[in-house]
Amino acid sequence: MKKLLAIIVLGLLWCDMTFANVLTEHSEIYKAMKEIKSERTYKGITGYIIRPEEEKNPSKFPIILPKNSAPIISDYKSIFGANWEYGLKRNKQNAQGNKHAGIDFYVKTGSPILAANDGRVIMARIESCEGPLLLIKHTGNKYATYMHIGEFKVKKGDVVKRGQLIADAGALVGTRCGGGIEHLHFQISSEGPCRDCTGSWKFLGKFKSWRNPHNYWTGGKGKPECFVEGKEYKKKLLTLPIQCNKL
Ligand SMILES: [Zn+2]
Repeated sequence: MKKLLAIIVLGLLWCDMTFANVLTEHSEIYKAMKEIKSERTYKGITGYIIRPEEEKNPSKFPIILPKNSAPIISDYKSIFGANWEYGLKRNKQNAQGNKHAGIDFYVKTGSPILAANDGRVIMARIESCEGPLLLIKHTGNKYATYMHIGEFKVKKGDVVKRGQLIADAGALVGTRCGGGIEHLHFQISSEGPCRDCTGSWKFLGKFKSWRNPHNYWTGGKGKPECFVEGKEYKKKLLTLPIQCNKL
């Protein structure tokens, strides 16, 4: 009987591993991105685990995406990402200055972008480099930037509810700020926009105010959850800003 149980448990573990694609190497992220770019289906697209020890600035805990989430193609503080072609060139000169301030979720153009929590829209505007962006002040005094989006579904001043459709995902942003692939850049800051400084950073908050979004998921650190209508969530925490696929 014990033997049978062990076989069942091992079998279940094996099944789980085949579903959760573990991206541990940057070369794997490259590969995934290239395949996405060339319109081929990437097998690991239904969710994976990023091992923090592979990053120079790790979250210090593993990131576990739900299996039906869109994949992350560039994590917080990664030097790789949707703008890797540009990022790499720049990183040769200044490795510190180009760390990624947010998380890039690979989402097809036109896909729904959802509010990660209740809040109020502070900005809805189109920037020459970043493209269309929304800045929302969420419950818990966290400012979220939703960047490279397409059509706005809310406007400045609107009150939004968690899970509400706030925008469509944009097409690829062919600038040094957007890279060559369609994605949502999702960024959390503890401060609002900086009105006095110049350049694109004024919309992103100050460098020191960047926060690792993986600290604030409703499922716990590193455990983002898909938004489910009617489900109760902790008020100050975030659900995924993208719509998950139906399993
Ligand atoms: Zn990004």
